[in-house]
Amino acid sequence: MKCSPDKKIIVAVDGFSACGKSTFARALAARAGYVFIDTGAMYRAVTLCGLRRGVIGDGHVDEQALVGMLPDVRIAFEFNPRRGASDVFLDGENVEKEIRGIEVSDHVSLVSRIGAVREQLVAMQRRMGADRGVVMDGRDIGTVVFPDAELKIFMTADPEIRALRRYRELEAKGEKVSLDEIRRNLSERDRADRTRPIGPLRQAEDAVVLDNSRMTLEEELRWAETLICERIERSCTSK
Ligand code: C5P
Repeated sequence: MKCSPDKKIIVAVDGFSACGKSTFARALAARAGYVFIDTGAMYRAVTLCGLRRGVIGDGHVDEQALVGMLPDVRIAFEFNPRRGASDVFLDGENVEKEIRGIEVSDHVSLVSRIGAVREQLVAMQRRMGADRGVVMDGRDIGTVVFPDAELKIFMTADPEIRALRRYRELEAKGEKVSLDEIRRNLSERDRADRTRPIGPLRQAEDAVVLDNSRMTLEEELRWAETLICERIERSCTSK
């Protein structure tokens, strides 16, 4: 990027499921020399842990048991040079592949609506972004985690395009899921994320909207880089 590399800001990327938030946020972080943090992966890791320990299953969560096990659940990110991105670790095990499966996707909204889970993960996310220089993607980054983020992007895309993108992504990984199942999962997750009482998905008032239905990743990145430079200049001149 052409603007000052010394000043670092927080870029919050929120939006609907399967809009390409992580792909965009990861690539943007790489170009800006920022750290990329995928907060959805953290909610997914807690969900996987609950499924494995039998406190989540068949569309149900034993909230008390899940919250009780939180203090000894260890979630960490570790850079994987082969992927050029960080993998998620649960209690020391790389679970990057498992957390993307349909079973976790089907239960994660039930977990992410629990206040005690959000409290713990939000606190972790704030620590991760304390030095700024991060691109963080999720649902409540610009509204709850970093309401003071210098740049807030709210992503959206045509629902059918989103379902197709997710279908191809899972297909490429060898997962057998029907397009209908994906459509149902995405619309149910969007509904649950928008209507939960704590940290719901909503566009921050000062967010800029990015509808990437008909944009290439390169176009998205150029658009965002210009905004980052603008925000850096703005925060330098306002001091
Ligand atoms: O981003 P991703 O689709 O992987 O997120 C999985 C789920 O985690 C979302 O459907 C949402 O329920 C939850 N989530 C959240 N808050 C965030 C990030 C994700 O509630 N900041």
